[in-house]
Amino acid sequence: MQNETILHIGIDDTDSPNGMCTTFLCYKIVKFLEKQEIQFMDFPYLIRFNPNIPWKTRGNGAVRLTIRTKNPKKIKNKIIQFVENYSDTKNGANPGLVFFQSKKIPLSFHEFSKLALWKLISRNKAKQFVSENNIESFYLGNGQGLVGAIGAVGYEFSDHTFELLSYRKKSQFGKKRGISKESVEKMQTTLPETFNSYDYDSDRVLITPHGPDPVFYGIRGETVKSVVKASTIVSTDEKLDGYMVFKSNQGTGDHLNNELQVNDLKPFTSGFLVGEVCNKPVTQQGGHVFFSIQVEDKKIKCAVYKPTKITQIIQDLIPGDKIQIGGGIRKASKNYGRVLNVEFLRVLQLAKHNLFVNPTCVKCNKRMKSKGNKQGFECIKCGNRLFSKITLEIPRKIQCKFYIPAVSAHRHLTRPYQRIKKRNKSMHFDPSIPWIHQYVKKNTQ
Ligand SMILES: [Zn+2]
Repeated sequence: MQNETILHIGIDDTDSPNGMCTTFLCYKIVKFLEKQEIQFMDFPYLIRFNPNIPWKTRGNGAVRLTIRTKNPKKIKNKIIQFVENYSDTKNGANPGLVFFQSKKIPLSFHEFSKLALWKLISRNKAKQFVSENNIESFYLGNGQGLVGAIGAVGYEFSDHTFELLSYRKKSQFGKKRGISKESVEKMQTTLPETFNSYDYDSDRVLITPHGPDPVFYGIRGETVKSVVKASTIVSTDEKLDGYMVFKSNQGTGDHLNNELQVNDLKPFTSGFLVGEVCNKPVTQQGGHVFFSIQVEDKKIKCAVYKPTKITQIIQDLIPGDKIQIGGGIRKASKNYGRVLNVEFLRVLQLAKHNLFVNPTCVKCNKRMKSKGNKQGFECIKCGNRLFSKITLEIPRKIQCKFYIPAVSAHRHLTRPYQRIKKRNKSMHFDPSIPWIHQYVKKNTQ
């Protein structure tokens, strides 16, 4: 026992839009580690960082493994080889790998991780962190992956979900995925213990990616048990290699917990603002809706895009409504200024929507006619006269509640409706349910 060390391993940015996947590399590493004399201390982590940075591949996700080992040197060398072999550097991957040997992770790691959730962090900052803290690291390409690798090691859960990722056999990479839609619909019996698997609005399966990466499907849920159970309901056309379950911050809205500083809205940052709607929303070409909110002495333009399917609701906002909005700051372009792309809206207080209209005759219950400028109003039936307009309060369609885009427009980190009040507390690592599994000959899927 005395010679054993706890080793944390953070890996990021090994994939490109053309292939591979950091979680698949992690799966390969875990399969290797299973054969070594080591002990897993926790589930593999899949941590999503700021989705609003420009150079992310798909989901800006990094992974972490924590093990106990007697021979960290051997393990580290082997993992470096895995990163070299399974990174798509030819197509622009910039892998980063960090090793940290200690039971306790220092505060500086946690702080770095928190910033990586909502900010744009340069690779130079990450390299500086590595050298200042004397951390063992390895990178290829420009080293951008060090940011997520450090962040994954430093990540602390305040809520979590799980995702079961199943992987294809190598011969199937890049081929079309054949999945039974009916079986995914049937899998909905696992709700609300699983989420975002099926979109009833468009009748679409949401668990299969469409790219050339090795993932066949990903099932998200609240517990390991629920995602494993759900995976036994799904049926596919091909024999899969295996699955691995990750503990993740997906579905937690993690990147939007930070209040943006209105005097310092940097492009590519994520977070929220609280303010008052200051102009009526305007629908522009393509069906996107724009409006502005006043926060302190600044007006911030906000955009809600058509695919979110909440543009109708947004159009009902009026000046004076107090709202909280979360999203990412888009960089100003030639034609557009800096804009907050809305990822959630919480209506805090609704203004009264008043219309000033001609009065109604109390005797005849008829709307009176205007007699001209400052001449008052007259009932054409009985001649009754009144001098001022009356106020009519229009009922509001939008409510004091939380609005998010439709499931089809969710990002990995979006907190779905069914998780709004849900917070999973981290428990002691319980490996009793198989969180990694390779389908061998007896594969009946
Ligand atoms: Zn009248």
